[in-house]
Amino acid sequence: MIKKTLPFSAEQLEQIAEEFGTPFHIYDQKGIIDNVRALKAAFSWAPQFKEYFAVKATPNPHILKLLAAEGIGADCSSLPELILAERVGIVGEEIVFTSNDTPAREFIKAKELGAIINLDDISHIDFLDKVAGMPEMICFRYNPGPLGQRGNSIIGKPEEAKYGVTKEQLFDCYVKAKKLGAKRFGLHTMVISNELDPDFFVETARMMFELAVELKQRLNICVEFIDLGGGIGIPYRPEQEAVDLNYLGRQVEKLYNQILVPAGLHPVKIAMECGRLITGPYGYLVTRVIHKKEIYKNYVGVDACMADLMRPGMYGAYHHITVCGKENEPCDHMYDVTGSLCENNDKFAIDRMLPLIEIGDLLVIHDTGAHGHAMGFNYNGKLRSKELLFKDDGTVKLIRRAETIEDYFATLDFSEL
Ligand SMILES: *Cc1c(COP(=O)(O)O)cnc(C)c1O
Repeated sequence: MIKKTLPFSAEQLEQIAEEFGTPFHIYDQKGIIDNVRALKAAFSWAPQFKEYFAVKATPNPHILKLLAAEGIGADCSSLPELILAERVGIVGEEIVFTSNDTPAREFIKAKELGAIINLDDISHIDFLDKVAGMPEMICFRYNPGPLGQRGNSIIGKPEEAKYGVTKEQLFDCYVKAKKLGAKRFGLHTMVISNELDPDFFVETARMMFELAVELKQRLNICVEFIDLGGGIGIPYRPEQEAVDLNYLGRQVEKLYNQILVPAGLHPVKIAMECGRLITGPYGYLVTRVIHKKEIYKNYVGVDACMADLMRPGMYGAYHHITVCGKENEPCDHMYDVTGSLCENNDKFAIDRMLPLIEIGDLLVIHDTGAHGHAMGFNYNGKLRSKELLFKDDGTVKLIRRAETIEDYFATLDFSEL
């Protein structure tokens, strides 16, 4: 079993908690950067490789800026996400705009920024052309639908997802876009989320490479890039293993050489839109125990709640918990770790074996770097926590303040009462 470790010592964390106050999400700069470099290295064989970070995972400009310095672009799917990218200097084809059910003004902004627009439906071609004009570069999101026996066990059930176009539509899409003036083309898919089996992504690459060849043969369209989407999982549980990126890179390289090169499609840019993989393991929600309660079960009440991290409540997701300073004590007590929402699913852990916990202990909830703070909400009048960056020089920077009561009331006008 791999032990879940922290980039800071218990004393350091206690100091940070003293200085900034709990709860907070803290992101490990070095962890994020080393990880991004590992991903790039795994695909360094590709004539061009581009990771567009899925902004929705960690929509913080400081994080986007760190990533941009490593050559990472942005995968946006809403107007605020586009503006966020723009504000940190990520513009043009450093952005891929992968949206669905898209409002007109979002297409207009994406076009203005020169982003690569990735269309989710055949009907969006005319819609985009009407509201913003057909750009020179256009991409389509493919939904493979039911994949038969080979694909189904491994690829899941894309036919039940709302995204993308069918295979027959896809061919019509390129013809139609070309007629409207598009000259450069991309091909995209994203069929799964939080998948730890690297062979799943290898199979996705195979499917996409074969599709690119078919596009060339049937329509004489040579795609400039193939975007394999995001969805690479992370080991939330201590017994799980991270996806071996080098293995993945090597397998995709083999398929590139077997399928794309002989078809005369080389060079094709390989793109990805990972979010979780990039920041997930390098964020921690740090919260202090404020109550203990013993009724039919034993509860530990903390000062964070589901507004700071929805995944356990929403998906029953496992997030590992370390009791700061008690790393080497036996896990011989069973607790439910709860937040303060009037919702019984506001629990960070259920029946979790932990060391004896006392009021005042600091708990570290692991793997909150992606889809953590970002998913927060204000139900029950709860306010979202601050975000901190643990920099590579060991200093800590506040990169988003906590929400305040004033923020909560900012959308209300009491003068009208
Ligand atoms: C959510 C999403 C991603 C990122 O997914 P992860 O699981 O965080 O890697 C990438 N692309 C699209 C279109 C998405 O909706």
